[in-house]
Amino acid sequence: MASSKRTPTAIEFVEYFRKHPPSTNAKKMLLVHYLSPQKTLTAGSFSKQMGWPPTQRSANLHYGTYAGKVAKQMKYPESSQDVSFLVKFCKPLAGKDKNLWQWIMRKPLATAIKQLGWGTDKRLEDVGSDIGFDPVTQDTKFDGSKRSVAEGRRKLRQHYIRERDPRIIRDAKRLALKKHGELRCEACGFSFAETYGERVSTYIEGHHKISISNMKSGDRTNVRDIALLCSNCHRTIHAKWPYISVDELKRLLRRS
Ligand SMILES: [Zn+2]
Repeated sequence: MASSKRTPTAIEFVEYFRKHPPSTNAKKMLLVHYLSPQKTLTAGSFSKQMGWPPTQRSANLHYGTYAGKVAKQMKYPESSQDVSFLVKFCKPLAGKDKNLWQWIMRKPLATAIKQLGWGTDKRLEDVGSDIGFDPVTQDTKFDGSKRSVAEGRRKLRQHYIRERDPRIIRDAKRLALKKHGELRCEACGFSFAETYGERVSTYIEGHHKISISNMKSGDRTNVRDIALLCSNCHRTIHAKWPYISVDELKRLLRRS
């Protein structure tokens, strides 16, 4: 029954695609769908853009086979061989397409594709400003000893920012304290309290595993979407776009 089917979260999709990068053809299917207006298309238009015979059947066959593979590898066996693992269907109420099923990309999948930065090399608005982490190359002739810049002026700034709610970080910290009795970096195990003492006894940074820049109005953050990290690990994740996951950071740590 469709209603009883579980579907993955965006984070699960991101982790899956990092582990199992899609083939060129599978990625093309995902991007054709992702880049369609409202992430919605008909099977016929899908087939046409993919160069398949322009029937509902070919889209069902190819996208369905891939969906089944993804479902199986993600351990959602009840969805195998079923394109609805990646797609929601609806029929428009009116208009010339009113008898054609519209294929809408499932939202967690679309969020994951955005998070992975596929199909766009556009830097997202909060990436640079997140840390101010500009790459620096070695230049032996550079003499910066005379350089000065004006700072500290009061300036009125008006711009859009993505809303952040500090309560979710606070809740994540509270939960971790309750569970472990202390706050440690989830990646490297660093404890501010242990190293610096009382002054920072409950300090730790909250990292959104799904970037805020990829969220839309109305998206919600669950406490499970927050990783608690020390400043070094947090900055290393945000140092370069595309960001790496906490697991990838852990792998870097193990290698060093
Ligand atoms: Zn750390």
